[in-house]
Amino acid sequence: MAMNDMLSLLRVAYYGLMAGTFAFLLLWEDGAPLVAGMPSRRRHVLRNLAMFVCVVAVADGLVGGWLLDIPSRLTITPPGLLTPLPLAIQLIVAFVVMDLSTYAFHRLLHAQRWLWLMHSVHHSDAYLDVSSSIRHHPVEVALDVALKLVLYLLLGLPLWMEAARTLLINPLSMAQHANIAYPPWIERPLRWLLVTPQMHRVHHIPNEAETNSNFGQCFSFWDRMFGTYRAADPALPPRFGLANLGGETFQSIAGMLLTPVRAWRLRTL
Ligand SMILES: [Zn+2]
Repeated sequence: MAMNDMLSLLRVAYYGLMAGTFAFLLLWEDGAPLVAGMPSRRRHVLRNLAMFVCVVAVADGLVGGWLLDIPSRLTITPPGLLTPLPLAIQLIVAFVVMDLSTYAFHRLLHAQRWLWLMHSVHHSDAYLDVSSSIRHHPVEVALDVALKLVLYLLLGLPLWMEAARTLLINPLSMAQHANIAYPPWIERPLRWLLVTPQMHRVHHIPNEAETNSNFGQCFSFWDRMFGTYRAADPALPPRFGLANLGGETFQSIAGMLLTPVRAWRLRTL
């Protein structure tokens, strides 16, 4: 099989798996919701999906096609620091270092006001479900992609490693945000290694102590290591979102895109 045919096949399999996981979790949310009776659920999902489409388009434009066209660039291996190391070591480093950088970037998104104004689009979602995982501001996504590209270039790791990483990370992120009452026996053992849905939901509770905790994306040990781990408080009801950004002004597609500008004026955010 020619290389181009193989990459096209991989591209279809990749996007098929992502769409399939999204649909599977949507159905699971129907069967075992954590918070029952979510109002306007269909509109909520459609808005977040529409936001995702325009975010990908805008972010892709900002980073010069590196987001959408990545499948055709998978074979690129930039020469860098780790290029001489065996492939298995490179793969482990890619998973660990890129996850640490995601943790650090997420902490920065909460610490710097102008970054927080962009990241608040993700946190202003009052009803967490699988679609919340793809609700981000385009500038945040563009910065994230650019940062990862720079790291891959510096480390000299082949770009297909990022595709392999997101093959696991994206479904995990969808599961973390899904409105599903997962059985506790799934959560408990996994939490020692991975950021589980219950652990990530703590991060979306609008109390300062809760929001400024559990920044990890894949591995839970970064939060334990750097003192930002917070266990779920059973006394806290599963309420999410940001008090100041709950209104319709911040929930429509245009509203989400304009949130950083509009929220700038809110001194309390
Ligand atoms: Zn956050």
